Amino acid sequence: MKFTGCIAVITGASKGIGKAMAQQFAAHGAKVAVLDIDAPAGEAVVQAIHEAGGEALFLRADVGDPASMEQAAEQVQNTFGGTDILCCNAGIYPQAFLETMTEADWDAVHRVNLKGMFFTVKAFLTMLKRSKRGRIVLTSSITGPITGFPGWAHYGSTKAGMLGFMRSAAIELAKYGITVNAILPGNIATEGLGEIGEEYRRKMEAMIPFKRLGRPEDVAYAALFFASEEANYITGQTLVVDGGQVLPESSLALEDF
Ligand code: NAP
Repeated sequence: MKFTGCIAVITGASKGIGKAMAQQFAAHGAKVAVLDIDAPAGEAVVQAIHEAGGEALFLRADVGDPASMEQAAEQVQNTFGGTDILCCNAGIYPQAFLETMTEADWDAVHRVNLKGMFFTVKAFLTMLKRSKRGRIVLTSSITGPITGFPGWAHYGSTKAGMLGFMRSAAIELAKYGITVNAILPGNIATEGLGEIGEEYRRKMEAMIPFKRLGRPEDVAYAALFFASEEANYITGQTLVVDGGQVLPESSLALEDF
């Protein structure tokens, strides 16, 4: 897959899955805009891309703030001259159990994960419409659309909501040749997930047929596919990247046979 001459914008790209997307798009020839609220980490991603011979730009942008996203879009336009690929990846996943979950907890997760996706698409839509290969790739999750987990009711709501958005957006934007697809990662070993702890990691690995957590690159490769020229006739679709995590009917299915 070649992305020479393409401009890719990735939110939440200072760490984890977004960082891997930025590095992979750059390694495959795209100019990359790294958008995130963590400036030092984002600048380090850009520096690593430059050292590897790629082209990238860091912009401090909060996806939950429409003015911040409009400003970032203007800077991408001024620096790179447009946008072909938009990866709406920024997301947060703090745990909160229903009995103690506050409205503020609920709103904070929806602000970043769901409204943030909407504000990102809105800000970059004019440039995507001008592109010959407009692509929107959403980072949803298995949590919400397929699975559930205690403490993530608000998170699951946002990740399922992203797919509802995707299906209508895919129809609306088809007339501009823009595709809208979503990746549903399983448990991926990122900085964000790291805080959950070693015991959780061991238990999760035991439940995954591949017996390992996903790597950020595993998700980035799916983004490259949806963004490729070859995927031009695929829209409104989902791709699960989880090492088979959602497959077992019960733990019996994972016992030795
Ligand atoms: P991560 O390691 O925590 O990285 C996410 C990045 O987004 C961080 O740099 C974070 O900054 C930034 N960010 C947070 N709020 C933002 C905002 N308002 N605007 C812009 N950037 C913001 O996360 P990840 O694990 O790579 O997850 C990336 C995406 O994949 C999320 O949408 C997540 O829901 C989804 N996902 C992850 C997994 C997994 O197992 N890791 C599984 C399924 C889906 P700070 O660190 O400063 O907050």
